[in-house]
Order: sequence, then structure tokens, then C-alpha cells
Amino acid sequence: MKSFKNNPGKLYVCATPIGNLEDITIRVIKTLRQVDLIAAEDTRRTVKLLSRYKIKKPIISYYEHNELIREEDLIKKLNDGFTIALVSDAGTPGLADPGYRLIKRCIDEGIEVEVLPGPCAAITALIASGLPTDKFLFYGFLPRKKGQLRKVLISLKDEEKTIIAYESPHRIINLLNELDEIFGERKIVLTRELTKKFEEVLRGTAKEINLKLGKGKPKGEFVLVINGCGKKKKSSILRD
Ligand code: SAM
Repeated sequence: MKSFKNNPGKLYVCATPIGNLEDITIRVIKTLRQVDLIAAEDTRRTVKLLSRYKIKKPIISYYEHNELIREEDLIKKLNDGFTIALVSDAGTPGLADPGYRLIKRCIDEGIEVEVLPGPCAAITALIASGLPTDKFLFYGFLPRKKGQLRKVLISLKDEEKTIIAYESPHRIINLLNELDEIFGERKIVLTRELTKKFEEVLRGTAKEINLKLGKGKPKGEFVLVINGCGKKKKSSILRD
């Protein structure tokens, strides 16, 4: 890793709202006003946020399918002395989005990175769940393919920590059915549309939550929180 260059170029990793546009820090607003440009995962969502705070800045799109090309472009600009704010479509960049790659690349290149904390869907869901927060496992997005999903869920069944996962509305019913089969009576909390008008926190077993969701296609953004399996019995060696 190179050391920091004598270069004013800097990446500001800015957490933005996960729904309610008022969930933004003063520091993030100031930074978005001061940087040379903004690298955004979802330019439409970012434009909405910027117009709410009357911020006018050039925006470059940086998302999963153009990240490799854009990464080079952004690194060049940072090396040329530009200041860039990185924002994801919602919440904290770097968590389950392409931000991670750019942050790592900057660190490897010796470009300064500063993180401005703020909203995060995973942490908001964990706190809303009321499930143990002392130890948790963040899984990100669960696999899409049925076989892989089952494999992962079976491997998570004996996890002692609270488990947090992101899921899309298209797959949530299938996931609840799999959870019902694999986790049975385990306590689960499904959060939907956090901080938004139709925010919901559904608690129960997977079967109960499925019933609460009702018929029809589920809509919105979801974070699933699963209670850990509880303390495992210590081995006889440790007990003695
Ligand atoms: N980096 C983000 C963060 O800090 O949470 C998450 C980005 S990830 C690409 C997007 C996923 O986060 C969505 O598919 C959904 O699972 C979850 N998410 C984002 N906003 C949410 C909200 N308002 N309510 C519930 N889940 C949300």
C-alpha cells in the first residue's frame, strides 16, 4: 500500500437516508455542497435528495454494472486532485453495494478516504427488531438460487448470533417458506420500508409473518432479522 500522496484528492463516503429524506447529517449536507463531484449508485434517487437540499453538483453514476470502468475514471480524478462524495442508493455506501470496491481501491492507491456515518438499513432493522444486539451476523443479500439458498439457511440454523439479511420483494415469500421449513418456530422479525410512510415491523415465526404479509405481491424494501439459536451446550472438556 502506498502512503498518502501530497494530493488534495479525497473520497468522502457519505451515508444518505434509507427513506425519510430528513435522516441526513449536517456534515453530509455540507460535504455534498463542497465536493467537486458526486459518485452515485442511483442517480435518480440522489437527484431527489440533492434537490431537497438545493445542492447542485455534477453526478457520475457508479453502480454494479459499470463499476469497473467507472472505478478507473474516479481513481484518475482523485489522483488529479478532485474531491468526490460517494453515495449509495440508500444508507451507508460499502454495505452490500459496489462502494466497497472503490473504497478498497482508494486505500490501495494511497488516496485519502473519510467516512461520514449515518443511516444504515441493517442497523435500523436490528434495533427495531428487539432481538439481541450484543452479537450479530450481517449476511447481506441471501443467494437467489433455491439450492444455494437452502444450503446457506441450513448453515445459519445453528448460528448463535442474531442474523441480518437483505431481501428483495420478489423473493420474500419464497424465503419465508424456506425459513418455515428450516427454522420452524424460530423468532423472526421482518422489517419493511423503514423510515418511510408504510414502515412495518412484523414479528413471529416465518409462517406467522407470511400470513401477516397477506396475499398479493409484497412491495417495498425488506430487511430480515432472525433470532440466533441460543447458547450451544459447551463441550464436556470445557465444562470439566
Ligand atoms: N448500503 C445500504 C445500507 O446502508 O443499508 C444498503 C444497500 S442494499 C443495495 C439495499 C437493500 O437495503 C435493500 O434491498 C433492502 O434490503 C435494504 N433497504 C434499504 N432501504 C431500506 C428501507 N427503507 N427499509 C427496509 N430495507 C431497506
